[in-house]
Amino acid sequence: MLWWKRIWRQPMNLFMFIVFHIAAPAIYWLVSREDATLFDGDWLRFHKIVTNFLLVSVFSNLWKLILSDPTPRKIIFTENDHITKGWDVCNTCEAYRPHRAHHCVTCRVCVLKRDHHCYFAGNCVGYSNARYFYGLLFFTWLALVYTNFITLEFLFKTTLLNPIQVLVSFFAPIPAALVGYLHEDFFVLFVSTISLFALGYTCYLIFLHSESFVSGITLTEMNREKESYKERYRTGVFQNMREIFGLNWPVAWISPFIPSPLLSDGSQFPHPKNNRITHSSRQRK
Ligand SMILES: [Zn+2]
Ligand SMILES: [Zn+2]
Repeated sequence: MLWWKRIWRQPMNLFMFIVFHIAAPAIYWLVSREDATLFDGDWLRFHKIVTNFLLVSVFSNLWKLILSDPTPRKIIFTENDHITKGWDVCNTCEAYRPHRAHHCVTCRVCVLKRDHHCYFAGNCVGYSNARYFYGLLFFTWLALVYTNFITLEFLFKTTLLNPIQVLVSFFAPIPAALVGYLHEDFFVLFVSTISLFALGYTCYLIFLHSESFVSGITLTEMNREKESYKERYRTGVFQNMREIFGLNWPVAWISPFIPSPLLSDGSQFPHPKNNRITHSSRQRK
């Protein structure tokens, strides 16, 4: 399905997509305002490089995630080896699917090594695009830490100056504007509060995904599968980083544009039912 259809057809995908594309540029505008920082000279130039790098990192990861195809379309119908590999059947797709592939009711398709559905991208996070998801999460968190570090001082100063006017402007901006009581920095305050809440939410997401990042077990498996199933696919954090970011994993996390081939096509994992299938990363050792 085309990316814009995936987003357009699901109200939650569309809502989160719009929220992100309004909030992120607004937060970028806030942190890149020259009067919002105490920097000047070389520090100001460095600050501009940092903010632009973070903006490009966030949006390049997001759009790589939006445009990626994590489904087994390319391999599921071309190979008829479900018997030798012990693949199971997806009753909804009415097709065989590799181990660790799960069906997404939002995307209406099976996804290889499915982790979860990301509403911000309107796409599932699976084997082929996990790199972009973790990149998006990390750089969004980093950008928000940086933004809050820069803007909290402004927020505190303004709030201390006239806390009642700030509160009224926040909770009743239209009446406050009508009677001329809207705080002059209302929009700046509003965006800095958004970035503070966004940082809290991003910290929660990092906490949510940290266990699967460290263990190599996907969020879907974490929630649905038995302990014995999970143990088959447990890897260390470094092996999992190789699996997520590919062969060039020590540098690939820096930018989604750094080429880094993945270890397999996402259909093969070590599995006790069939010892002949070894993980491609182990073959390379
Ligand atoms: Zn399916
Ligand atoms: Zn999905």
